[in-house]
Amino acid sequence: GDILKKRKIAVLGARSVGKSSLVIQYIENHFVESYYPTIESTFTKAINYKGVDYDCDIIDTAGQDEYTILNSKHAIGIHGFVLVYSVTSRKSFDMVQTVYDKIINFCGINSIPCVIVGAKMDLQQQRQVAVKEGQELATSHGAAWIETSAKNNVNVAKVFELCLGEIERRLPNSKSE
Ligand code: GDP
Repeated sequence: GDILKKRKIAVLGARSVGKSSLVIQYIENHFVESYYPTIESTFTKAINYKGVDYDCDIIDTAGQDEYTILNSKHAIGIHGFVLVYSVTSRKSFDMVQTVYDKIINFCGINSIPCVIVGAKMDLQQQRQVAVKEGQELATSHGAAWIETSAKNNVNVAKVFELCLGEIERRLPNSKSE
């Protein structure tokens, strides 16, 4: 049989953008109204993507701001990044660029396997970040992009499939690993 492929995915972004809600919805299939924000948790999940089984570690980080020094645990040995902003927060959108820059500076490379996620898309009345802005940021980094609602379970699984896609796209020979 096939060897299970281990992939590590880190979920980063500003506080309160919905990182934990996204991960908990994906792992446990329910929406949490409030989740202890400062705790970092790692979840494991078997994901079948394009007929291949992946054993994924998903690291839900506590959140970053402009002063946060990137934790080496969130860069070394990480295969793919999920960078989350809330569509209701311009500041959190700007934080995606800041965190992205910290990762590439830390890793000393100019591009990373990455999905940029606009969370809380159900809160249309409070929207501060247009769809087009999210798409353009992702395009400028050669990253994938999607909007989600953890509350309504919209596009949640898609985030992690896109991330595996970005990882595998850059590992063309990974089938023989
Ligand atoms: P984190 O600090 O980035 O992990 O953010 P949380 O997952 O703790 O979410 C912060 C707040 O936003 C909580 O009150 C969540 O219930 C809420 N939230 C998270 N995702 C959504 C969503 O998709 N829609 C709505 N309306 N609220 C959300």
